[in-house]
Amino acid sequence: MIMLTENEFYKKKIFYSESIIKIRKEFKNQKKDIDLWYRSDRYIELQETKSKFNSKLKQQLKEIEEIEIDITNDLLYELTLWYLSAPKVCRYCKLPESELINLHEQPGHINKRWPKRGKELEIDRMQSDLPYNNIENLTLACYWCNNGKTDTFTFDEAIEIGKSIQSIWEKRLNKKFEDG
Ligand SMILES: [Zn+2]
Repeated sequence: MIMLTENEFYKKKIFYSESIIKIRKEFKNQKKDIDLWYRSDRYIELQETKSKFNSKLKQQLKEIEEIEIDITNDLLYELTLWYLSAPKVCRYCKLPESELINLHEQPGHINKRWPKRGKELEIDRMQSDLPYNNIENLTLACYWCNNGKTDTFTFDEAIEIGKSIQSIWEKRLNKKFEDG
């Protein structure tokens, strides 16, 4: 008999939109497990991340017209898992996502695109000519590093630029960010 694992349950229910009735029927002997997973915090976390990530990705893909990617359920599942486990820190300037609001509230800090940009870390392709479905090529970056990097600077160059930006954020926020 095939056993359903916890991750497979989330994948079926959240990413493939299979009905809970169907899943319960199919894995009758695992009713207890299924009920537990269905009510778990992990379930909520995955579901919220999926929808947040789905719109984030679609928005970013819309801005890059030359790239056409079919956002399949499998890809969305992989990307969601990646996103949940990715450190929520800008890869280049080391600014933690939790500091973005503090930065925004600094006197004299102007960001006309708030809250559309600058409120959350963005998905950056380290090598910008590779598509978003290449997960190993993805990292998180703040609006300013991502915007400054564009297609012009290489990953290594963006790391160099990020060091200068980091020291500016540290001065503005009067804090030191961990390196790495
Ligand atoms: Zn940054």
